[in-house]
Amino acid sequence: MDLYEYQAKHLFGAHGVPVTPGEVCTTADAAHEAARKIGSAVVVKAQVKTGGRGKAGGVKLADNPDDAQAKAGAILGMDIKGHTVHKVLITAASDIAEEYYVSFLLDRANRTFLAMASVEGGMDIEEVAATKPEALAKIRVDALEGCTEAKAREIADAANFPEAVKDQVVAILQQLWDVLVKEDATLVEVNPLILDPDGTVLALDGKVTLDENANYRHASHADFEDRENTDPIELRAKEFDLNYVKLSGEVGIIGNGAGLVMSTLDVVAYAGEEFGGMKPANFLDIGGGASAEIMANGLDIVLTDPEVKSCFVNVFGGITACDAVANGILQALEMLEAKGVELTKPIVARIDGNNAVEGRKILTDANHPLIELVETMDDAARRVAQLAAGK
Ligand code: GDP
Ligand code: MN
Repeated sequence: MDLYEYQAKHLFGAHGVPVTPGEVCTTADAAHEAARKIGSAVVVKAQVKTGGRGKAGGVKLADNPDDAQAKAGAILGMDIKGHTVHKVLITAASDIAEEYYVSFLLDRANRTFLAMASVEGGMDIEEVAATKPEALAKIRVDALEGCTEAKAREIADAANFPEAVKDQVVAILQQLWDVLVKEDATLVEVNPLILDPDGTVLALDGKVTLDENANYRHASHADFEDRENTDPIELRAKEFDLNYVKLSGEVGIIGNGAGLVMSTLDVVAYAGEEFGGMKPANFLDIGGGASAEIMANGLDIVLTDPEVKSCFVNVFGGITACDAVANGILQALEMLEAKGVELTKPIVARIDGNNAVEGRKILTDANHPLIELVETMDDAARRVAQLAAGK
């Protein structure tokens, strides 16, 4: 999960990284009040999960509360690279003498962590990396040793930080490493890390990506969830603990195993071309040992999606035998009806693998008006796309 700048800075502050005080606002009036409380010049910063806000006009200095209000009014609602600005951060403005860059990230390809640092930070670090790679120091950080003071000094030396700021940078690097490790992040980036005219180094921007697999040990990270910008169906699926991603098509997909579901998306998209471009409406993997209840939750999520016109249940029986899956589908539909969910959308089922013959017999014998059994995955994809197109 990527965090907003204000959330990243909240974590920075909690681990000792120096940041300027600020407040996040959703209205221009609130921005006025926040600027008044700060009592000095402020920066009004669009909170969107994309870089380049400065260049896009989403970061503006304001001298006084009235100015902050006007600039917040202009920035709120702005579109930055497809992201609508719903919040602005009002934070004390700093004078900038130098702009630096520092980051830590999980370098999967090299099976290590990587520190990157440069004294040529600011808005164009990608350009520095591309045109002047020698100005961007890259130092591996061993996961078990971590960023010790000696390692932080090695990074600061490699990037040629001036002696006068080196101790501060070394401390900040260790604090940022703490953010990475203690918060279970896979990326921690500061651009710019600035030197102000008083000689103080501080983080003016922040980017943090948290590893959601570690959410169970960070109850407080739930507050970072961006509910208003998350698809409502995805939110419901999350409550059911389902592995669901909303897509833009018409064919609901339920399968067991991420690989099978991904190939199902492909075959449905391919088959859908013949029927005016029908596409998968979602990714949903109900996992290996799917019970009737999980199947019911999955069908509930998929069938109540207003964009779904037909649903493809594609199951390969492995650990769970197909007869159990077939019974699960039938029970799931009963459970939904009992819950008052209106069932009208056709379901195409393809079941194969362990006990396939028994499973198919159960569905055939049940003769459910909504369920159509199709033997192969390709034929099932074609049929479900055809049904979605209303043919
Ligand atoms: P980004 O463009 O999305 O990376 O947003 P940043 O937070 O990095 O801000 C972009 C640029 O705005 C920075 O590189 C600074 O040059 C400028 N900026 C941000 N905060 C301040 C501030 O407090 N004072 C001044 N003078 N400039 C700032
Ligand atoms: Mn930045």
